[in-house]
Amino acid sequence: MSDRLGPPLETPLFGRVALIGLGLIGSSIARACQHRHLAGTIVAIDQDPATVARVTALGIADRATTDVAEGVRDADLVVLCVPVGACAAVAEAMKGSLKPGAIVSDVGSVKASVIAQVQPHLPEGVAFVPAHPVAGTEYSGPDAGFATLFLKRWCILTPPEGTDEDAVERMRAFWSALGSDVEVMTAQHHDLVLAITSHVPHLIAYNIVGTAADLETVTQSEVIKFSAGGFRDFTRIAASDPTMWRDVFLHNKEAVLEMLGRLNEDIALLARAIRWGEGDKLHDLFTRTRAIRRGIISEGQETPEPDFGRRRDGQ
Ligand code: NAP
Repeated sequence: MSDRLGPPLETPLFGRVALIGLGLIGSSIARACQHRHLAGTIVAIDQDPATVARVTALGIADRATTDVAEGVRDADLVVLCVPVGACAAVAEAMKGSLKPGAIVSDVGSVKASVIAQVQPHLPEGVAFVPAHPVAGTEYSGPDAGFATLFLKRWCILTPPEGTDEDAVERMRAFWSALGSDVEVMTAQHHDLVLAITSHVPHLIAYNIVGTAADLETVTQSEVIKFSAGGFRDFTRIAASDPTMWRDVFLHNKEAVLEMLGRLNEDIALLARAIRWGEGDKLHDLFTRTRAIRRGIISEGQETPEPDFGRRRDGQ
């Protein structure tokens, strides 16, 4: 498969696309939409006037505003790219201005909560197709985005029961045009799967970096100096946006707590194996986990380069 986005479309998929929240994800969608000519007009909406000014300077939208109600007017597609906890307020602000026949979508990392926050505000005749692009980096803001962020990454659609099939297919086409492979599942299943593949790993990273920072017997300079022993890779994840991740945990509480319960039990078993010198148990687990990493590489979701492809010549 190519590592480039396809050529611009002759006819855009949507007339007017309004993106709300021009951070990493929103600005990446804007760039990819421009590159592939997926929208006749792109309207950028952000609560921060500095972001609106930056989006204008970057030239990644045709129009930029802080006014949600005005920005979504006449849009054929509206995509919420704000932290999960801000979705209800945004839905409330836009509900009176949505055009009949419009599609509303989002990119939130949690789905059931977003549906509960947004759906009650949507007028009759507006379809809601929630989406989660499983792609990202630890950077935030409009300068962090790039057009190929979604290339060869999964995008999960979680349409509530009864959603117009045509709207789902249009969103499938939209995300395919952004380079993603698209899968459809229920919001509840999404939240459970992502709790173990994304949310709990982030919590573990935040926790281990926090614990190391609090240790009294190891100095901060030693933590940094010897970080290549594994710690460094956790620090990348633990540098992720604090607002976004606070909202993820508060809005996927049940699934995260369920997975944490399982994790705690398994950690207790590992501690026991170490205490009683049960090397076979440790070796069996580490063999299974190595196979999982190889599976991720062979599916094209990670680089096969040793040490994530970091250069070894000091450059
Ligand atoms: P980000 O870079 O922090 O950008 C979020 C933008 O939304 C900021 O410009 C923010 O402005 C703005 N915003 C917040 N509340 C708003 C409101 N009420 N009205 C208008 N604009 C508002 O965040 P991101 O990483 O793009 O994440 C956005 C969404 O994508 C989140 O729901 C997240 O769960 C999801 N997601 C993220 C990733 C990832 O790896 N980052 C991956 C997949 C999905 P302020 O700066 O003023 O708050």
